[in-house]
Amino acid sequence: ERRPIIAGNWKMNLTNSESIKFLDQIFQMSLSDNVEKIIYAPSLFLKDMIEKVTTSGIIVGAENCYYEDKGAYTGEISPLMLKDIDCLDCLIGHSERREIFKEDDRLINKKIKALIKHGIRPLLCVGESSSEKDAGLTKDKVKVQIESAFEGLSRDDLKDIIIAYEPIWAIGTGITPTSSEAEETIKYIRDVIRGIHGDLADSIRILYGGSVKPDNIESFMAEENIDGALVGGASLNPTSYSALVNY
Ligand code: 13P
Repeated sequence: ERRPIIAGNWKMNLTNSESIKFLDQIFQMSLSDNVEKIIYAPSLFLKDMIEKVTTSGIIVGAENCYYEDKGAYTGEISPLMLKDIDCLDCLIGHSERREIFKEDDRLINKKIKALIKHGIRPLLCVGESSSEKDAGLTKDKVKVQIESAFEGLSRDDLKDIIIAYEPIWAIGTGITPTSSEAEETIKYIRDVIRGIHGDLADSIRILYGGSVKPDNIESFMAEENIDGALVGGASLNPTSYSALVNY
């Protein structure tokens, strides 16, 4: 009943012309209809990409946004601006935003509230660092991240949110947890959500992210609580993105 999601997070890689070429190529490929397909792209390309995907079944989202509608926030984009170009999906709290750009749980909570207010669906990323993993703090870390992200939001507010569990040590490293380790943490995240909003936990989709490739996707997708993948590197190329979608 939870429809699988294969989401690409392009980060800061392709150029605008490469993004258009990607779409032209992917439109020629046959992609499974059973999977929800999302690509989170740089804000600079969103309008062109959204105009281009039309009925292809590919959804285009933003990689980040600020929480105010407008004002003196040089370099930022707002949920209002996303809404205006029909961009209705946005990543929030990616570990690169948290670590490099110093975003904390309080800021992430404000961003989620702003997106939901505008009817934009957030994909919230959580996950532990390698030292937190070594110290046995994985569950404590994701619990705090989920509880603070959800603060002040009702069950109805959160009905469409998507979560991605991305252990930081697995991002871009080629190293992954085993599928059963990822399943254990994702099941725990579901239990944390159950503790806050009861059976909302059964309908929220929770993805795994971190070095997902065409040759390991199947093992993650076979786990009961893993509803899809959030993919960086392997989403940049139409051949590997389509292989992931057609796992
Ligand atoms: P990689 O798939 O390149 O490891 O990146 C994962 C990620 O950070 C997706 O958000």
